[in-house]
Formats: sequence, structure tokens, C-alpha cells
Amino acid sequence: MSEIATNRLPGLLGKLGKMTSIRDTELLEQSLLRTLGPLLGVLDTSLYRTDEQQNMVRVIHYHRSKVIEADGVARMVERVEELSRVNDLPPEVVSLTDNVRLLGKPCTRKLGKELLVAYPLFGGQDVCGYFVFQRDREVQAAEDATIRGVLEVFSNYYALLDISQRDRLTGLFNRQALEGSFERIWRLLGRPDHFAERTDGRRSSPGENHWLAVIDIDHFKRINDRYGHMVGDEILLLVSRLMTHTFRNSDLLYRYGGEEFVAIISADNARIASNVFERVRLAIEAHTFPQVEHLTISVGYSQVLPDILPIEVLSRADRSLYQAKQDGRNRVYAYHDLLASGVFEEQACAEVEFF
Ligand code: GH3
Ligand code: MG
Ligand code: MG
Repeated sequence: MSEIATNRLPGLLGKLGKMTSIRDTELLEQSLLRTLGPLLGVLDTSLYRTDEQQNMVRVIHYHRSKVIEADGVARMVERVEELSRVNDLPPEVVSLTDNVRLLGKPCTRKLGKELLVAYPLFGGQDVCGYFVFQRDREVQAAEDATIRGVLEVFSNYYALLDISQRDRLTGLFNRQALEGSFERIWRLLGRPDHFAERTDGRRSSPGENHWLAVIDIDHFKRINDRYGHMVGDEILLLVSRLMTHTFRNSDLLYRYGGEEFVAIISADNARIASNVFERVRLAIEAHTFPQVEHLTISVGYSQVLPDILPIEVLSRADRSLYQAKQDGRNRVYAYHDLLASGVFEEQACAEVEFF
């Protein structure tokens, strides 16, 4: 091992130790950038994430800069920016990462006087993202070995964390993962200046509203009773696949309980949210399932508001779902509509005051 690499080893091991003590997949991604940037002597590093169809779906930019404080002391500050909608990627990043994907190995291209370097991130056999940075010099063999090593530790650990957040049958996020998302979404909405750039660097788009739905399969017990658990499981899997295809990539879907799911979607207004959930209901109603043939779901949903606690939003959606069941199933009910029509009136007023 070269002298440089040996000297850096204790620092690197310390950083890997910190990285693997993290329990949140998104913080882990940030930690990867925080580890590799200083090792490579660069101020900016980026992580791009792709979905199964190899579309770029998320990007995290990490930036360090030196700031001179009022007392004249220099300090390094860092900024992390995460974008969940990737529209206008620089063409040089697109062409470079295309090559990385096709070759399954790191690639470099010239960018003015500098070099743009991209490494693949693997999820199993497939490329599931890229680590990208720009530098004025080539990557040396010892550095290359370090980057590959860190990326491998990262990917293995990421996979472990991811598995613990997934439901085994459907592969959807589980209830535990939902609780993590709650915190994140509420943090995002909880700031009065959340449309501006936030101190942790994340941005949210103006007009972005979130809606939470509880979705429950109608009369599912009958299916198990009549056709057995194996058929029941297969239908659960089909329902979850149909829903995944109907929602957008950026929407979040969880298996909340046995035949109960929670979806958190972004939609600018109530009408659009209603259309999305109605589309899901219709997709299930229109599908021909094995043996049972026809199946329906009921949906209750409520808006995610920063000053209403997650547990209350969930409860509002759940009460709306219960009402949908009461009124005959196979329907989508919105909490605000039930409120407007007087069904939930008294209870709701007391809660709004309480929170
Ligand atoms: P409702 O329309 O009121 O929702 O009626 P339901 O029969 O769907 O509701 P209920 O809560 O009475 O029953 C849910 C059933 O879901 C009970 C259980 O047998 C079944 N279930 C829960 N988890 C699983 C699972 O993992 N696999 C299978 N096959 N069935 C499950
Ligand atoms: Mg049910
Ligand atoms: Mg149920």
C-alpha cells in the first residue's frame, strides 16, 4: 500500500465506522459523500440514483467551502442539496453515466481543464446509481482502490438497511419505514420558509402538497377463507404491483398491515389527489385476478399538514377509510369532504384546536 494510503487509513476507518452506525438510508448516502469528498481532495461530490428502468430519479449534491468567521478564523462549512425530481441533468453527466452503466465500471471524461469522473453504484448485479466528482487530475491506483472499497461497504450496508425497511412478501416499504418518512416529510413542511432553500440544503417545490391515504382490500378475509392463504398472498402481491404501477415513482407506498397499505403522494391540489386515488381504485377494480377474478379496495385520505401531527393525519385517513367501508366499500373518501358534509364536524374542530 502506498504511503499516502497508509497515512489516511485511520481516518478512513473512522469514517467507515461512522457511516455504518447510521440507521437511515438517506443519511447514509450523505455520509458517503462526506467521506469521499475530503479523501479525493474535492469540494463537490454528487450521488445519482436510478430506478429499475435506469431513469435518474434522485440526486444528492454535497458541497464544502471555507468560510472566514467574524473573528478571522477559517472554518469548513458543508451544504447538502437533495433533489427528488431530476429533469435537467447536464449533458456531460448524462453521457458519462450512460457509459458507466453500459460498461459497469468507472469512466472519465474531459470537462474543460478538469476531469469528470463517475463510478457505478451496484444494487446486486445492477447499476443503481453513480458517484460523480470533478477534479483537475487523474484518479491514482491507490485512490481508485479506496473509492471502490468505500463504495462496496456503502452498497452492502445500504442493502442491509433497505431490507430492514421492506416487507418480505411485496417488497414494499414496511410500517417501520413509514415512521421514518413521517419525520422527514414533517421536517420538510414544518418550516415557515420551506419554499426557500433550507439550512440543510434540501429544497421543496412551491405548491407541493402531500396527501396520505390508507388503502384496504375489501372483504379480504373471504378470499383467504375460500381459496386459502397461498392465493391470498398472491393477490396481495398483485394488488401491490398494480398500485406501484399506478402511482408515480416519487410517490411512497407502504404495506402498513396485512391487507392494508399507506400511500403518501404529492399533488398540487385536492382535485388532483382525488384523481390519483380514484385511478388506483379503478385499476384494481378493472383487473382480473386469478381465481377470485374481481376485487375492490376502499381508500380514505387526508392532507399532510405541517401543524397536524403524523399520527393525527393517519387517523383522519383511517377514519375516512372506515366511513368508506360503512358506506358500501369500493370507494375513495377524502377527510376534507367528510368534514365539509358534516360527517366528522364536531370531532375535527376539537382536534384542530388541540394541535
Ligand atoms: P373489510 O372489507 O372490512 O376490510 O374486510 P376484510 O375481510 O378485508 O377485513 P378483516 O380485517 O376482517 O380481514 C383482513 C384479513 O386479511 C384477515 C387475514 O386473514 C388477512 N391477511 C392479513 N395478512 C395477510 C397475509 O399476509 N396473507 C394473507 N393471505 N392474508 C392476510
Ligand atoms: Mg380489508
Ligand atoms: Mg384491514
